[in-house]
Amino acid sequence: MSGRIPAHGAVSVRVRGQVQGVGFRPHIWRLAQDFSVHGRVLNDPEGVLIEVAGADVEAFIAAIPREAPMLARIESVEVTPFPGDLPEGFEIAPSRGSGSETPVTPDVATCTECAGEVRGTGRRHGYAFTNCTHCGPRFTILRALPYDRARTTMAPFAMCAACAGEYRDPADRRFHAQPIACPDCGPRLWLEVEGRIIAGDPVEEAVRRLKAGEIVAMKGLGGFHLACDAANVAAVARLRARKHRPTKPFALMAREEDLESIAALTDEDRTLLRDPAAPIVLVSSHGVLPEEVAPGMNQLGVMLPYTPLHLLLLDAFGGVLVMTSGNLSGEPQAIGNDEARDKLRAFADAFLMHDREIARRLDDSVERASPPMVLRRARGRVPGTLPLPSGFEGAPQVLALGGQMKGAVCLIKEGRALLGHHLGDLDDALSADEFAKAIVDYTALFDHKPVLVAVDAHPGYRATQVGQAMGLPVEVVQHHHAHLASCLVENGWALGGGPVAGIILDGTGLGPDGTIWGGEILLGGYRGFTRCFSLRPAPLIGGERAAREPWRNALARLDQAGLASRADALFPAMPRSLARQAAARGINTPVSSSAGRLFDAVAACLGICPVEQTFEGEAAMRLEALAAKAPAGHGAYSLTLDGKEIDPAPMFSALMADFDSATDHAVMVARFHAGLADAFAAAARSLIETDAASAIALSGGCLQNALLTEMLLDRLPGIPVLVHRRTPANDGGLALGQAAIAAARLAG
Ligand code: ZN
Ligand code: ZN
Ligand code: FE
Repeated sequence: MSGRIPAHGAVSVRVRGQVQGVGFRPHIWRLAQDFSVHGRVLNDPEGVLIEVAGADVEAFIAAIPREAPMLARIESVEVTPFPGDLPEGFEIAPSRGSGSETPVTPDVATCTECAGEVRGTGRRHGYAFTNCTHCGPRFTILRALPYDRARTTMAPFAMCAACAGEYRDPADRRFHAQPIACPDCGPRLWLEVEGRIIAGDPVEEAVRRLKAGEIVAMKGLGGFHLACDAANVAAVARLRARKHRPTKPFALMAREEDLESIAALTDEDRTLLRDPAAPIVLVSSHGVLPEEVAPGMNQLGVMLPYTPLHLLLLDAFGGVLVMTSGNLSGEPQAIGNDEARDKLRAFADAFLMHDREIARRLDDSVERASPPMVLRRARGRVPGTLPLPSGFEGAPQVLALGGQMKGAVCLIKEGRALLGHHLGDLDDALSADEFAKAIVDYTALFDHKPVLVAVDAHPGYRATQVGQAMGLPVEVVQHHHAHLASCLVENGWALGGGPVAGIILDGTGLGPDGTIWGGEILLGGYRGFTRCFSLRPAPLIGGERAAREPWRNALARLDQAGLASRADALFPAMPRSLARQAAARGINTPVSSSAGRLFDAVAACLGICPVEQTFEGEAAMRLEALAAKAPAGHGAYSLTLDGKEIDPAPMFSALMADFDSATDHAVMVARFHAGLADAFAAAARSLIETDAASAIALSGGCLQNALLTEMLLDRLPGIPVLVHRRTPANDGGLALGQAAIAAARLAG
């Protein structure tokens, strides 16, 4: 740059927050043109730095937050005098300092402008890989850092002159958009059947087949999906039969206008659906789709088209598509073309493929808008970080490895936590491989050097075993203490913030007394806890089989309540005497205070999947759906507080009495939810009233139940209640709590 002039009245503008890798420098460059100011903008380790002078500097600065890029999150703008020289024009200067490499943002749904181009008449008309600085693939195409095209799966595609021009032009929406592409230079789409490429437009041909009831495997952002017409009962039934997935709800994809006909969308639902992360959102069903889509549920998991390929497909299809993970049951979804051809051959009639590789397997995130909650944290949310609460500023670098059924790791560094994506059930060998890969991957990405690894207390968890073998000091964290701490972190509860009463309603977790916990009120903070109240334990007859077969829990609870004859009448075909002998002798029968198993017991009494659950949480999800149908004023069963134990026995007596008077099942299930909420809220409130705790936290897998969460909140008015909004209450959030506890203990 020639002719540098001394600048009088020049200022330095420091912008902090999520301002790198989101198109912030070109945004500043454009504002500089608009306001005729001169100077420079650059990235450095603290964010974005602008050195600027001109008559309209004040107006220029005021416009910075007002017109910020969609993905930017500005935390602060600080203005100080600038004594140095400035160029005559306005330039985007090279980054200063180390650590200022552009961090990777999560994958982002197609923006409005790109959608307009795909649907318009320009050179990207109908192009399935259109993206810009504000949208497109990120984490799923990243192979290594720093994030630039050469280290992504876009590397094999050399930019054409037109794309290169856009890439270099600060005035263009695609300035430095690493995955920039067009039909002349970018990835290509095709449709294949039995290994043969089908001639003609691949999207039109795929739609023709979907309309004819076929199942199409399609390559998405973080993996393959299996798609079929959601309104076609035979197609949905065929997909279920082929996938050996009898009842687990299928996710759906449709344009917003097409969703309105199948679901009652609230304003909160619409806002969450349109979020750049484009999660699957659980919404209230109108019940117009075939029951086979989500058997026994009153909610549907829906998402908007989030890539240009989805947009093209849904524009041409015009209805609602089932869009379920393309995987073998229990395995992670396929990401490679050959892997998909091999594994999905038995499910799919055709394959909608392309030649951009997927570097990283990411499931769709699953969320709820009201009450806000994350059920599965994945695509669009990772690798986002969370700030750690005050007191953790100097926390050491800790790696936490999470639980077993919903694997996820967490890394903390420099006062921030990176909670990784959902890795599935680590019992599965391929999921276990993904788990090992995620540890390596996130460690490299976060430039992380752990001094300590935090694991669950259960020695049988794969994550625990991996952690023990890492050669690092190991901090063992009790399962439900980790749930409590994860809720505290998310809510910014300070390290020295004092004890909180944690209502932890969960499936299973090993307690320090060697029994299985899961229906607890813990009093404590990051450093420790005491168990103040818990559900009266019952035998888990058959150990892990009890989690799959709800009748076992019903038998245990009914026998405990002196209602053995009712169990005999309800489950005449089950091996009851064998089960009772095992319970009496303690053979493969640990005792458990699990709230999850209490839901299973109630479900089995009502004939809801008594013999077997085909997916984790099925009985509880169906109970929640049924309870939602009960009229207001349904009342509650009572669970009694006996010392430190909350005893559900009286509830089972009342449940049986309701049976005898032919009470509506929905009312019975609502009474169960209300009774459970009454008992736990009252016990937790007693800890507030005696000043033992100053707030109540809600965590554990059962808090994914929106009805139960709302009932607990209703019963705790005027008390600070901490809930999960951005991290899962289930085991997907466990690693966050483990990491915080380990760091707190290390800090002393
Ligand atoms: Zn875009
Ligand atoms: Zn091009
Ligand atoms: Fe748990």
